[in-house]
Amino acid sequence: MDGLLYERKNGFDGISAKDKSEIFDFCAEYSHAITVAKTEREFSDMSVSLLEKAGFVELSCKNQLKPGDRVYSVNRGKGIVAFVIGGEPIENGCNIVGAHIDSPRLDLKPNPLYEDGGMAYFKTHYYGGIRKYQWLSIPLSLHGVVVKRDGTQITVSIGEDKNDPVFCIADLLPHLAQLQAEKKLSAAFEGEKLNVIVGNIPCEDADKDKLKYGVMKLLNEKYGICEADFITSELELVPAFPAKDLGLDRSMIAAYGQDDRVCAYTALRAVIDAKTPVKTAVCLLVDKEEIGSEGNTGMQSRFFENTLAKVCSLCKETYNDLVLRECLSHSSCLSADVGAAYDSNYAEVYEKNNACYVNGGLLLTKYTGARGKSAASDANAEFMAKICGMFDKAGVLWQCAELGKIDVGGGGTIACYVANLDIEVLDAGVPLQAMHSPYEVAGKFDIYMAYKGYNAFFNN
Ligand SMILES: [Zn+2]
Repeated sequence: MDGLLYERKNGFDGISAKDKSEIFDFCAEYSHAITVAKTEREFSDMSVSLLEKAGFVELSCKNQLKPGDRVYSVNRGKGIVAFVIGGEPIENGCNIVGAHIDSPRLDLKPNPLYEDGGMAYFKTHYYGGIRKYQWLSIPLSLHGVVVKRDGTQITVSIGEDKNDPVFCIADLLPHLAQLQAEKKLSAAFEGEKLNVIVGNIPCEDADKDKLKYGVMKLLNEKYGICEADFITSELELVPAFPAKDLGLDRSMIAAYGQDDRVCAYTALRAVIDAKTPVKTAVCLLVDKEEIGSEGNTGMQSRFFENTLAKVCSLCKETYNDLVLRECLSHSSCLSADVGAAYDSNYAEVYEKNNACYVNGGLLLTKYTGARGKSAASDANAEFMAKICGMFDKAGVLWQCAELGKIDVGGGGTIACYVANLDIEVLDAGVPLQAMHSPYEVAGKFDIYMAYKGYNAFFNN
């Protein structure tokens, strides 16, 4: 009997040449986007330019909103929310796709520059869940902003242009690593040793700290900054290499920062393609997910609620708080975040029947969390059925999985904070291998299914 058993498939299996080239074309644009936007600020800026090109305007430019209007609002340069106003009244709720645009990385400490043992270094403080050894002996680039005390903002980017130098953290040679090799992995690599090489020519202008002085002098020439300006900066080290096609068949993409810019980019493209939907379509891109969605740019902030209140008030002739409350209660959200794709090299941490596979389709995760579903937002069966049915109708191939085996670890997304706003929410994103590494692996079919799925969700 057809359909009696749940079957999985590789999305490329039996695909037409036309569909395949559509997927590859879309992924080429994605690949370019994540190569040029490697930080939350860069991704937010890129989103603004893509949105404006598609007719979106700053929310503050509007004094009323009607169906079909396209607006956006930026949160402190590190997050963004875009709306396409729907045909139905705003109090009937929105369809929200929420992703995060921060990724694990190495931040500079407030006082980063020092010299020791004949070398100048930057001290770093890692951000998010990294496996420290993966950041050794790879090319790194420096991105971010320095804000001078007079308010001037200087944008820094070193290591991306082909003529730029790069930075790196030198790893220990195997010949002298015997003692380290006997340590537990968690003890063998220390956060305080993630010091980045930045220079080696002594500057004759100085009486002491000649290497440090030399580096500071170059930065001063290029950016006009002094050492104390590091204190008022946000500078991040990220892998310096571009996104590349992976495999002889080019069926995958290997790149830094696909968690979660793969979902952010596909959500952004989907909201751009939303044409006067029934319900208001919302693409919400937040910061700080990797450290618990904290702070005023994270999902736990009131930013989204405040911005939605503004949108509600501009949609109605008479507005009171109940409009916003009704809007939230009637809204639905796809929490667009990546999941861990099955990896046969580490089969012991996955449960095969409840794992997801690269190019197996858009991943639906009913609940995340750890141990006994601790800290999970467990999506309602009713809501899940609605989404699965909608995807089936739209021809979106999807798969359903847990993060890994019970009791071997766990993780979370923004879903629980969205749920706190009384919104129906389900995690729906792209499966990744090597998540949180400097070189994450995603399937092109899945990337396209994310776009197609978010598109269907908005236009439903
Ligand atoms: Zn994520």
